[in-house]
Amino acid sequence: MPRSAYQPASRSPVTRSRAFYSVRLWSVRHSRGLERIYKLLAGIFLKLHPFWTFVGYKRAEKPVVLVEKAVKSFLFDCRMCGQCALSDTGMSCPMNCPKSLRNGPCGGVRANGNCEVEPDMPCVWVEAWKGSRHMRAGDNILKVQPPVDHSWRGSSAWLRATAEAAEEKAAAKEGAPTS
Ligand code: SF4
Repeated sequence: MPRSAYQPASRSPVTRSRAFYSVRLWSVRHSRGLERIYKLLAGIFLKLHPFWTFVGYKRAEKPVVLVEKAVKSFLFDCRMCGQCALSDTGMSCPMNCPKSLRNGPCGGVRANGNCEVEPDMPCVWVEAWKGSRHMRAGDNILKVQPPVDHSWRGSSAWLRATAEAAEEKAAAKEGAPTS
């Protein structure tokens, strides 16, 4: 018995195993806890900024990418786009959308909340909305995400976010009034 009337004429361009769906959906259900862990990790990474600078962000890239890829592939079916939006998208990775939409769903979401391209897959944006409702910073889902810069593909989003946070911190320090 087919799950939906729609059957794509050819194979979907993105093939995934059902096991990954289950873990992904678990991550969305536990977005609040994962948000906390992410914040904690981001803080630790930022504290390690002097270490990353000493070693060199470029040299640290390879080992960090290995860890990041392993963890995020398992939990989020991460595609290593290099510019992670998970904390703004309810811990549902937007790159799992077959159309790679970064700012909300297309008009083809099925009545049951599944994807129009992959009828058996829950729409990543429907999941993103559900996940965001559990999160403290859940309203970040309303932020407009910039277009994906494909030159960052395969690089560490963790290190990039750390370098940016360190820069912001330094700029804030410089701008702070001296007593
Ligand atoms: S948004 Fe990018 S880095 Fe984050 S989980 Fe998805 S593919 Fe990976």
